[in-house]
Amino acid sequence: MDPNFCRNEVERTSFEFICPFCFSPWYQEIRSTKFEICVNPNCSIYDRALGLKEPRASEELDTRRNSIHSEIILRLSEFDNSFIRRYLYETRRSIIYAWRTRTKGFDIPGFFALSELLLELNHHSPIGKSTSVTEVRDLVKSYLEYSKQINFLDDLLTLRIYMDRDQNVYRIKYWSAFNQMLENYGITHHTKVESEDLFKYLDVDAKAIKPFDPTKLTDLSEYFKNTFLHSARLRLLFGLHKRTSQIFKYKVYLIDVAALVALFFSIQQATECWPIDRLRELFQRNVPVGYKREFTEFRSQFIDSKELSPIILRSDDACYVDRDTLLFFLHYLVGNEVETPEGNKIQMIGDTKNVAANSFEGWIGNELVNKKYAVTSGPIEVAKHEYDVIAVNEDLKRILLIEAKYKDFSPSAISGRTLLEQELYDDKEGLLIEAIRQLKRHDFFLSQPDRFTKLIPAIERIGNYAVSSFVVTKYQPLISK
Ligand SMILES: [Zn+2]
Repeated sequence: MDPNFCRNEVERTSFEFICPFCFSPWYQEIRSTKFEICVNPNCSIYDRALGLKEPRASEELDTRRNSIHSEIILRLSEFDNSFIRRYLYETRRSIIYAWRTRTKGFDIPGFFALSELLLELNHHSPIGKSTSVTEVRDLVKSYLEYSKQINFLDDLLTLRIYMDRDQNVYRIKYWSAFNQMLENYGITHHTKVESEDLFKYLDVDAKAIKPFDPTKLTDLSEYFKNTFLHSARLRLLFGLHKRTSQIFKYKVYLIDVAALVALFFSIQQATECWPIDRLRELFQRNVPVGYKREFTEFRSQFIDSKELSPIILRSDDACYVDRDTLLFFLHYLVGNEVETPEGNKIQMIGDTKNVAANSFEGWIGNELVNKKYAVTSGPIEVAKHEYDVIAVNEDLKRILLIEAKYKDFSPSAISGRTLLEQELYDDKEGLLIEAIRQLKRHDFFLSQPDRFTKLIPAIERIGNYAVSSFVVTKYQPLISK
């Protein structure tokens, strides 16, 4: 793409999220939210007096972090092994349970901290005697503080936030669009969601889900395709911080998923304690005849990993399992790339996303019909130019060419380093290329109106209408006209 063309396009846009002088993202002071700054030192409006520092991971910081961490591990080691394992497992489970039953919003920092603490147990087995609930609560509290601080640090290092010399915090302004997305998925505003149907499918979970044969993918897809929204939501949530996302990077195999589903059916609602051998037998029963998958491979992903947070918690030869935790993680797992027994990699909910995109186009069409527009019934293609929706209003003598852009952005896009590349400039998915493509469609439409006469619901010659083009996005776009 010609960079000058690119630049001109940006100059014709509004600058809600990016600096008009250098096109870097705007940052907002988080307490007043009115004070916006450009953080690019080469920009003409950069304010040196603020004393903004580009953060660097320093040795001093590392040392401090390590010493806090060691102190926590020391305290962890003073507990009775099976007591603390059970306590932490149940506490994480209660967070999941409270969210599922809508008694509370999802305790995001708590969930991350407990998942990390459970992983710590795979590194250090406590050797003490303490079974004090007060002490373990204190420990969780300290860890939560520690975990929040390093997540903040993570945000600083990825340039999601900046600090000035007076310790004022500035957050990338586009964060608001990201929050809007989390809200839409019912992550941040539980009260708002209660009346909506996001949880519709979760209510029927236990009834709709059934055991399946991993060689017949359709069995499994049926249920999880209906709950894809929940899977998408969990993927966003688990990816919230770059650092914490690492402990949920399971490699997902369909046979493992089948075993976890079978386990779900073999237990009751309350937490159960299974001997590891019983778990092994259940796993082996779920490996289809003629296929090979070892229990040790399953175990090293979901139970004993030193990098991944355990889904099933082991205490010597006993394993804690419960339905809330299993189903929660199953939804997350199927939202990722899944490897089939034949070795193919598939996206189970990727297909469903397209269904959602089509209904988004339908929704736009309905909105226009309400505003007295006649709309095309489906996408139109003329000479390789695709038009999602074309709408005609006879009273106003107006034709609208609409590109519907249904897209969630990944949490990692919300960083000062990658935001513009991913959201705006990306060659395939970025908004800018989309806007330019739409301009080309617009020009083509005007240059060859006759080719559209029979395809769109216009009564008169196309030359008699004013033609406008839009890109409609699901979220606040980074750029807009
Ligand atoms: Zn600037």
